Amino acid sequence: LRFHDLNLPDRVLKSISEMGFEYCSEIQAETLPMTIKGYDLIGQAQTGTGKTAAFLIAMISDFLDYPLAERRANHFARGLIIAPTRELALQIADEAVKLASNCHLNVVSLVGGMSYEKQKQALENENVDILVATPGRLLDFARSKKVMLNQVECLVLDEADRMLSMGFIPDVKSIIRMTPHKEKRQTMLFSATFPKDIQVLARQWTFFPKEVSV
Ligand code: AMP
Repeated sequence: LRFHDLNLPDRVLKSISEMGFEYCSEIQAETLPMTIKGYDLIGQAQTGTGKTAAFLIAMISDFLDYPLAERRANHFARGLIIAPTRELALQIADEAVKLASNCHLNVVSLVGGMSYEKQKQALENENVDILVATPGRLLDFARSKKVMLNQVECLVLDEADRMLSMGFIPDVKSIIRMTPHKEKRQTMLFSATFPKDIQVLARQWTFFPKEVSV
């Protein structure tokens, strides 16, 4: 399946070809036809499969199809991606910047172990179209209302099994409670493995999800 065969906005296709991608990877081919229609997703995929582009392309295309009529304030996030580690979050943010480069969508990252002040300034000065975050730092900013999550249209939980093993599930639960109800947002959850606890959480957090395993 080529990206051009999917019904993606031209500006997204432009970024995809600028990144040198032509053919969908397996996870992209299996998920994009459903996720660009707005379905929730539970995806089993390892790193290296192209899962990052899979969820970013769906999110960005959705934002272009449904432009914001009017932004309440720039610290209201539209898209939220939660990842367990700084390294992963920064990789996702990097890919998001590239994929959004022709779309007038701004990417902000809130990750632990990096300057709090700079991140605070970004929230004050930039539109939070796509927010990429690790749980602890995000919760700090969300509890102090420096970022608002109650308008999130699309939520991605990446490497859910690692969030569990690293003890982040209580933080993730608090964060998800600040987002709109699952019927009113799109949720995509990815995990390499699906132990019982993750299966239960994945069910709780998604609404009539499609399930894909690669
Ligand atoms: P990920 O599994 O998301 O960490 O992606 C692994 C690597 O594959 C990243 O370097 C991506 O930029 C690259 N990649 C993702 N999708 C494609 C594609 N359709 N064609 C070629 N490379 C890709």
